[in-house]
Amino acid sequence: MAICCRFGNRSRALVPASYTIPLQPNNPVNTFFECVLFVLGLAFGSFLNVCITRIPRDESVLRPRSHCRECGKPVRWRDNIPVLSFLLLRGRCRDCRGLIPYRYPAVELLTAVVFAGCYAWFGPTWVTVKFCVFGFLLVGLIFMDAETGLLPHEFTYPGIVIGLGFSWLVPGDSSGTWLLLLLFHRHIDSVRWLSLLDGFVGALFGACFFYFSWALYYLARKRHGLGFGDIALIAMTGAFLGLKLNLLVIIAAPIVTLLYVVMLAVREAFRPRRKLALAEANAVSSGADEMLAPDQGQTASSRVAAMSATGQGGDSKRSTMQAAAQQSVEAQSSAADADVTVDEAPFLQRELPFGVFLGACALATIFFGQVVWLWYLARFR
Ligand SMILES: [Zn+2]
Repeated sequence: MAICCRFGNRSRALVPASYTIPLQPNNPVNTFFECVLFVLGLAFGSFLNVCITRIPRDESVLRPRSHCRECGKPVRWRDNIPVLSFLLLRGRCRDCRGLIPYRYPAVELLTAVVFAGCYAWFGPTWVTVKFCVFGFLLVGLIFMDAETGLLPHEFTYPGIVIGLGFSWLVPGDSSGTWLLLLLFHRHIDSVRWLSLLDGFVGALFGACFFYFSWALYYLARKRHGLGFGDIALIAMTGAFLGLKLNLLVIIAAPIVTLLYVVMLAVREAFRPRRKLALAEANAVSSGADEMLAPDQGQTASSRVAAMSATGQGGDSKRSTMQAAAQQSVEAQSSAADADVTVDEAPFLQRELPFGVFLGACALATIFFGQVVWLWYLARFR
């Protein structure tokens, strides 16, 4: 599929052939290897789940072996088959019937699709290997940021080094830095060194841009608008993608985030006018929760029922707690009716996991970055 046919000969020389053939032809050999990459992606996705669960908690990813987070029982090998085990167990632990988060099959499937997609796009080349590694790191960071609000440097810092290494080993589209050098009347003959410089410039430009954005926002609002994890992440994407493609990520990520904020604002505007009543009920419920044992995953009413059964607590205190718990349950049911969450922070004070949008845009840029650039450059022909 010659999407790049409109790219002029002069520019084509700067783009390695593997980047200019976005899709492999359909034949049995390619289909077989896409399936192999898909299965490999499932396996790497399974390992990624361990990383996502443990790295933000500063736990080792090697020991102890995989176990249920609810009951602590080791996961049997037959319950550890990516996606399939989740379906067979219907999303519950075999021992305690505790819920297994949907994140597990989602990460496995997404990693598998990225791996197979890289082969389908770039074929049996080192570019496929480079972007499989990049995709693995991005999927991990997206889900870690979504779950914990953290972008651990265990992923981003090695990612920068690995990205620069791949820039040298697998030269990419370095036309961004090539043009930049041209402005200063400089030229580098070696494709590898030009690509390495491009990775370095892409990382540096991304990091500096986000750092100055953070500094400006901090000066204006005295609040942190960005985390340093986001700055390390954009440096990592720059190291892998180079200056030209990283520019797309830098432009697209804030736009996608803004669209998400607008969507949230619209949802907020159409929220039922029960916020005050909900806030009061929530305050009562949190008061009741503080009085009760802070067990996670139990409702206030179930905690009261458990305490009544064991005879703990005085009668008057228990009745107060039962009344509060009853109010809490009513508040929760009314919140469910209104399709709103009781414990949401005020709209403008909510923190957004920017790394999720950044990572998603970088993932999309792997596959569609060149096409977007070609479409944009074609406007000037
Ligand atoms: Zn369990």
